[in-house]
Amino acid sequence: MGKKPANEGCSEALRPWAASERTYLRNAGGVLPLEDLCRALGRSEESVRREAEHAGIALACDGTVFVWCDRCATWRTGLNGRTGWCRICTMREQLRGREQACAEALAAMPASARAVYEKTEAERQTKRLPPHPVKRYVPPSADGRRNVEEARYLAEMEEWEYRVLKLRYDAAKTRLRRMREKTGSNPRKAKRRNG
Ligand SMILES: [Zn+2]
Repeated sequence: MGKKPANEGCSEALRPWAASERTYLRNAGGVLPLEDLCRALGRSEESVRREAEHAGIALACDGTVFVWCDRCATWRTGLNGRTGWCRICTMREQLRGREQACAEALAAMPASARAVYEKTEAERQTKRLPPHPVKRYVPPSADGRRNVEEARYLAEMEEWEYRVLKLRYDAAKTRLRRMREKTGSNPRKAKRRNG
């Protein structure tokens, strides 16, 4: 049997916080999830929450837990279950495939049709890119808040990168569709015509 960990919560709430623990909480609060903070400090959620509130440390990294993507060597908010890469790397790969298909479709076009297609395509406007995220200034004295801003910026940059890639992906998809319509090689349309 031995010790009962269930008691931990009660006795531990009374255990005073050491200066080193406070420093740790200041640096890691808002960057690591609460669960990890508790484990590192050997304290309950309640104890950590109470101390953070007392010291004015923002704990919430809005639930954002960062994981390492080996492919792009960057901290990301998650990894794709299928590829094992972050969503940026996954989307980049999908985009590569799309652009490859576009190049193939263009090469398969008769020369005359390709000339017309390239002319009209050049006249089309590309969609506006979303505004680039801005990192806010946090004074060096603000301790924990710098980390919170760091984490926020990291997550926002990922979102921005994803949206830019998605725009390019959608554009490539549209190009492919137009080319296939021109050459009548759209597999779905061909089926409809025959059927
Ligand atoms: Zn990645």
